[in-house]
Amino acid sequence: VDLSDFDPGYTGGLGKKEVEERLPDLTRRLGELQYLLYADQRYGLLVVLQGLDASGKDSTIRRVFADVGPVGCSVVSFGVPTPEELSHDFLWRYHQRTPARRRVVIFNRSHYEAVLVERVQELVPRETWERRYHHINEFEDLLAAEGTVLMKFLLHISKEEQRRRLQERIDDPRKRWKYNPGDLEDRKRWDDYQAAFGEMLTRCNMPTAPWHVVPADRRWYRDFVILEALIGRLEGLGLRFPDCDPAIEGARVE
Ligand code: AMP
Ligand code: MG
Repeated sequence: VDLSDFDPGYTGGLGKKEVEERLPDLTRRLGELQYLLYADQRYGLLVVLQGLDASGKDSTIRRVFADVGPVGCSVVSFGVPTPEELSHDFLWRYHQRTPARRRVVIFNRSHYEAVLVERVQELVPRETWERRYHHINEFEDLLAAEGTVLMKFLLHISKEEQRRRLQERIDDPRKRWKYNPGDLEDRKRWDDYQAAFGEMLTRCNMPTAPWHVVPADRRWYRDFVILEALIGRLEGLGLRFPDCDPAIEGARVE
């Protein structure tokens, strides 16, 4: 997969207004499906979000999951690993946080950083990250076989849109707290990241754990694409309310 084949500004011929009008119904539908997933008890859902700085990971979580109840849903954000985390295998800190059955967990960054930032910044040697693709596939295969539904989204933005958003973090006092000089260092390695994304998409796109490349220059289209994908997948699971004890049928509460 070559990411340059994908247009970050793609909108499928749809207009902002028509899509924005549909978003409330879609977020509501996702909320209903999450309720059903919780009741059904057979599956957990792991949503993986990857993307460069300012690609919109936080805002996606806020907007796409707006109508999902917090009882069954949580977000885990992964930053620089701690010394303890580094003293284990690279999947250790991620596996602990995967969803139990019934639950939705959103990974804001994920185990893929092991073949992204760690590769691009040369935090580990090539032979280490090279073998990780295989282990990631095996890990996800294990999760899927044990009842975890995996949905992986790469928020794909253009270099110009990232420039605009990082500049805004500098210029807007309400966003300045998000500014991190390290983001500019990563931006200098733009091409290396695009190559690392391409290899990740090529080598870790399993039928049970597919990648979705999301055109993310426009927030409304990004949210629309992710909502449609999540709803389609959850609807395909045949979720249902569990059978109840027949003795309850018709019982009266005094
Ligand atoms: P943020 O997503 O803005 O909160 O930043 C989290 C930071 O943690 C980013 O700069 C990532 O590059 C960094 N990070 C995440 N995972 C890893 C990892 N496995 N190794 C090194 N740095 C990481
Ligand atoms: Mg950063």
